[in-house]
Amino acid sequence: MKQAIKLAVVGIGKIARDQHLPAIAAQPGFELVACASRNASVEGVRNYSDIDALLSAEPDVQAISLCAPPQVRYAQALAALDAGKHVMLEKPPGASVSEVKALHEIARARGVSLFATWHSRESNAVAPAREWLASKAIKSVEVRWKEDVRRWHPGQQWIWEAGGLGVFDPGINALSIVTRILPNEIALRGAVLTVPSDTETPIAAELDCIDTSGAPVRAFFDWRHGPVEEWAIDVDTDAGRLSIREGGKRLSIDGEETALGAEREYPALYERFHALIESKQDDVDVRPLQIVADAFLMGKRVETEAFGR
Ligand code: NAP
Repeated sequence: MKQAIKLAVVGIGKIARDQHLPAIAAQPGFELVACASRNASVEGVRNYSDIDALLSAEPDVQAISLCAPPQVRYAQALAALDAGKHVMLEKPPGASVSEVKALHEIARARGVSLFATWHSRESNAVAPAREWLASKAIKSVEVRWKEDVRRWHPGQQWIWEAGGLGVFDPGINALSIVTRILPNEIALRGAVLTVPSDTETPIAAELDCIDTSGAPVRAFFDWRHGPVEEWAIDVDTDAGRLSIREGGKRLSIDGEETALGAEREYPALYERFHALIESKQDDVDVRPLQIVADAFLMGKRVETEAFGR
């Protein structure tokens, strides 16, 4: 049997504990040997306060999974790639599109794999939705991605700071699904960003896009929503409506609910990372981040009341 790839995780916070550590423990292709985090540590492995200390003490580590907020992604990824490690990036893959493209070029030059993950693309609705839509004419698309920020991001300051994306932090998950399931590319034509007077990033956003066949693609993101979140995508086609609900856990086609299996987004991501390393390939799709960047580029900013963070 082949030896497991020695892996380290950097940035031990909510998503590392909720998803990455359990998925790695269940994946025989990886062996978690070390972690780096300024304050947190993980039982049963060697712990370091930052990635540089980890890299100099652990020359046998072959792959690094980065789970800290996007503002520090580039520096951490660069250090890992320069040390010759394969790298997996949490979403969003960076705080800017250009830094992700630069990382991709560096990974290619070093001959290591770079995997820019989009966990929502691994939700069960996505593959059957993509397959069904492949042969349909798209008439219109509406995305509604709304949740209560105080419930889903309690105490997180980085989401409100430049590069933290604000409401696009969840909204980019919807964009990662839309760019995966639609048969055509989409282009941003306009946006409205609603920004509290005391934050650097938006609390709500409306995006106005068009696909290459001319179909309108509209997205509504809102962090002032509750108590029940709405993570929904409706695609109207010449053969009826396809609806994704609960962020990809439910799919209905022309009114018929489709049976989907149990959620396994993060196990699927680690399987793919392993396969990419074995086949010496990359997977870096910046399109969801590009649309967000375009919204910041084109969007009309509307100030709203202070959030009180
Ligand atoms: P988080 O818990 O706020 O942050 C993760 C950890 O990163 C923190 O606990 C912190 O650990 C470290 N960190 C924070 N700021 C840092 C800095 N400036 N420099 C170095 N390390 C820093 O955030 P999260 O919810 O896990 O999200 C992290 C990433 O995963 C984001 O890109 C997010 O979009 C993505 N994600 C989150 C979720 C979710 O449900 N939360 C779901 C999918 C994807 P130390 O203090 O120990 O260094």
